[in-house]
Amino acid sequence: MRICIIGGGLTGLSAAYYLSRTYSVDVLEASAETGGLLSSSPVHDTNIERYYHHCFSGDAHLLALMDELGLAADLTWLNGSTGYFSEGRIYPLTTPFEILRYPLLTLRDKIRLGLLTLRAGKYRASSYDDMTADAFILDTCGRHAYDSFFAPLLRSKFGDWRHEVSAAWLISRIAIRSDRGPQGERLGYLRHGYQSLITALSDAVRRNGGAIHTGIPAHALEKTEEGTWMVNGAPYDAVVSTVRPSILTSLGGPSLPEIPYQGAACVTMGLSRDVLQGIYWVNVKDEAPYGAVIGHTNFAPFEWYGEHIVYLASYFRDRLPEGHEERMITDFCNRFSVSRDEIRWHYMTTDTAAGPVYTTGYRNLIPPYEVDGLYCAGMFSSPNYPERSMEGSVAAAQAVAETITSREASRD
Ligand SMILES: Cc1cc2nc3c(=O)[nH]c(=O)nc-3n(C[C@H](O)[C@H](O)[C@H](O)COP(=O)(O)OP(=O)(O)OC[C@H]3O[C@@H](n4cnc5c(N)ncnc54)[C@H](O)[C@@H]3O)c2cc1C
Repeated sequence: MRICIIGGGLTGLSAAYYLSRTYSVDVLEASAETGGLLSSSPVHDTNIERYYHHCFSGDAHLLALMDELGLAADLTWLNGSTGYFSEGRIYPLTTPFEILRYPLLTLRDKIRLGLLTLRAGKYRASSYDDMTADAFILDTCGRHAYDSFFAPLLRSKFGDWRHEVSAAWLISRIAIRSDRGPQGERLGYLRHGYQSLITALSDAVRRNGGAIHTGIPAHALEKTEEGTWMVNGAPYDAVVSTVRPSILTSLGGPSLPEIPYQGAACVTMGLSRDVLQGIYWVNVKDEAPYGAVIGHTNFAPFEWYGEHIVYLASYFRDRLPEGHEERMITDFCNRFSVSRDEIRWHYMTTDTAAGPVYTTGYRNLIPPYEVDGLYCAGMFSSPNYPERSMEGSVAAAQAVAETITSREASRD
């Protein structure tokens, strides 16, 4: 049986890995390299993700896959410290003492926020799919906490979409980020970056006889009379699409519900000094062209890179604003008192399909793993609801591979 997998991101490569153990697999990847949102660039003698990444202790499928691929020894659990930047100051918000001292929330706000964090794991997030995050926060934490804490976070993450985002997304986001000790969140990172996961998956697929074609987009899909699908004119017994549903439909694939997506633009910089007071993740409260400044080397050891690596994280709707990279860097220099010559290098990475926007009612848009004889799995699949993640990609890939395998078994 010949299977075509469209997309060589984490979902596509994981699906190829599971399926290539039994079937003949071809992966088509539009870009010059594999990895998709999890791809990396070389820095000195290691690699760094184009978009900041870490994993969580509850990522069962991802951790099992890394184990299977022999990467367990490279997985390091590190402390992710956090802070909030407002009006020229960084407020550390990692330890209970720092949180108590934080002046921009009242004691009442802090108690309500603390209770919400403790309870987040107990809510059934999907039951809140029809409620907006705004309504949920106002109800549980009140107006002051909404205005001074949540509103800037929602604005930076979802921009114009922010008032449409569901409480299901918010609750799961809080729950996933609640694995905290006194020194911060416990977050996982691979010694040579997540590029080693992409490389290990690709190597395993090739060892199993699969082929990975980069720089070859799927540009046309056609259904045959037998009910199977052709990709770029080539017949396959099964096709797995991991790309955004609207792209699949535009290529001639089955019609799927329109899932809203947003784009991401991320500047990566090498700096000559730490400008974040040793903090990993600094959310920016004031209106800025980026929503968070991420000090990668305040998380992964500085010695691995020999310079301070910082990301500026931003999301956009539809189209990237003109001159965005320059605007982000200029703002960062002004806001964080950094001079240009302290930035040794920088580049910006953008992707218009950086993730679904979990608006209210999203749950009803999730496509099944098989639609009209074509298989699909990706950031839009149920394991990625209500927040996409590496764990969700691996879980969706495993589920679609099992769907194909059991469909084949029932044919025998
Ligand atoms: C800024 C940012 C930060 C993140 N941080 C984290 C984190 O800390 N922890 C975490 O768990 N997750 C994180 N994620 C999420 C994680 O990166 C994704 O969930 C995961 O990588 C998605 O993989 P995917 O294969 O489904 O999609 P993608 O990576 O988007 O892969 C899809 C692939 O399909 C290719 N493609 C598109 N069209 C075609 C075509 N016509 N033909 C062939 N190929 C095509 C694309 O080039 C791409 O390579 C983050 C994402 C972003 C954007």
